[in-house]
Order: sequence, then structure tokens, then C-alpha cells
Amino acid sequence: MRTTLIAGNWKMNGSLASNAGLLSGILAGAADLSAELAVCVPAPYLAQVQAALAGSGVSWGAQDVSVHESGAYTGEISPAMLNDFGSRYVIVGHSERRSYHGETDELVAQKAVRAIAAGLTPIVCVGETLQEREQGETDLVVTRQLKPVLAAVGADLAKIVVAYEPVWAIGTGKTATPDMAQQVHELIRATLAQADAKAAATVRVLYGGSMKPDNAAELLAKPDIDGGLIGGASLKAVDFLAIAKSA
Ligand code: PEP
Repeated sequence: MRTTLIAGNWKMNGSLASNAGLLSGILAGAADLSAELAVCVPAPYLAQVQAALAGSGVSWGAQDVSVHESGAYTGEISPAMLNDFGSRYVIVGHSERRSYHGETDELVAQKAVRAIAAGLTPIVCVGETLQEREQGETDLVVTRQLKPVLAAVGADLAKIVVAYEPVWAIGTGKTATPDMAQQVHELIRATLAQADAKAAATVRVLYGGSMKPDNAAELLAKPDIDGGLIGGASLKAVDFLAIAKSA
């Protein structure tokens, strides 16, 4: 049994004032949801989010983590630092990190390992670009991104969450159709199962890419779509909650 996870990726948005409104809006509607809610926020706001959400049942976390534990890595944030603020989740390998910061499949795999070692749950993002989809390379790209993660996490496979985020659907308003998404989710589940069939049945595979209140129900109804990683729509409490209610 996989509990639906609806995770917000705030990206580089927010302020102390606007976060306070967003968080109280989320809390006001979070009580009787069957889905689990989480918000992945910019690191400077972790203390604020921890204070607001502690004890509420809504989880929180970050959008990236260092592979290093401490030391001369200017600008990096360690897994232990995320733990200091009660984080449960951390996104790793978001396509914006891969494309703007040159993160490789291997680095992403190491980030997942370091997160797990610190007791965090990595939300490992995979997904193809438009060009890769048009060239028929979706399956190839997704398995190429996933395999180093599976090799690196080994027996800890059940401790990860995967997010399938077609790059062409992120922030563009274009969504994969439910059938297109399900096809890739099925492939992801099968790839996980090759590594560990028992764990694969429990790992949540989220869909991300312009998920909104009006398309969430159809996507979340698919058998291998276990939740959503929500960018734009997670910045409005009503939309975020509406997505979670449609699960
Ligand atoms: C994301 O960046 O993870 C994302 C899914 O963004 P959006 O929902 O805005 O497409």
C-alpha cells in the first residue's frame, strides 16, 4: 500500500511574509486529507517552516543537498544541516539542478545516498527533454538516470521516492497525458523491480510537470502514479490543497 504524497517544490520563491500566509492556508485545509502533504522550501526558510508545521502532519524539506558532510564547500548545505531543522524530504536531481548546475546522474545518485544516510528521504527526479522525447529516447534517458541511483542506494531502495518530471512539462503548462505519464511510471516501477521487487512495490513514484487542480485527478488515478511533485501550483494553498483532495 502506497500512501499518496503531494509534495510542493517552492523553488526560489517566497518571503517570510508570503510564506506565513501560504503555510497557514495549507494548515487550514490539511487536517482531513488522505494524502500526505510535504513542502520543499528554500533552505533559509526551513526554520520558519519547521516552526509553523511541527506536529501538524505536514512534512517539509529542501530542494537540494550537498554530497559533503562539512568543510570548505562554500554555499553548500549538508544533510545534517537539513536534519537540524526537522526536514523529512530533500529533492535531488531536479532538472533545473541538472541543467543549470551540471549535476550528473552519478552526483545525483551520491546525493540520494548521503540523504538516506542522514535519515532523509530523497525525492529523486528523472525525466526527458522535449528533444529526447521527440527522438524516442524517453525510456533510455529515464533508465539511464535511474540506474546509478539504484546501484548506489542498494538495499535502501525502499527509502527513496522517485519523481518522473518530463522537462518539457515543467512550468510550461504542458502536461503529459495520464496515459503518457503512466507508461513511464510503469517503466520506472519495472526498473526498480529489477533491482528489488519487494521494495519496488512500496516506492512512491510521483508525477511532476504542470500538475494543477484541473488535471490532478486523472493523473493520480493511474495505478503507478503515487502522488505529485508540484511547482507553480504549490505556491497557492487553495490549488495545492485541491490537488491533494483529488488524490
Ligand atoms: C517542478 O519544478 O518540480 C514542477 C513540477 O514545476 P511545475 O509544477 O510548475 O511544472
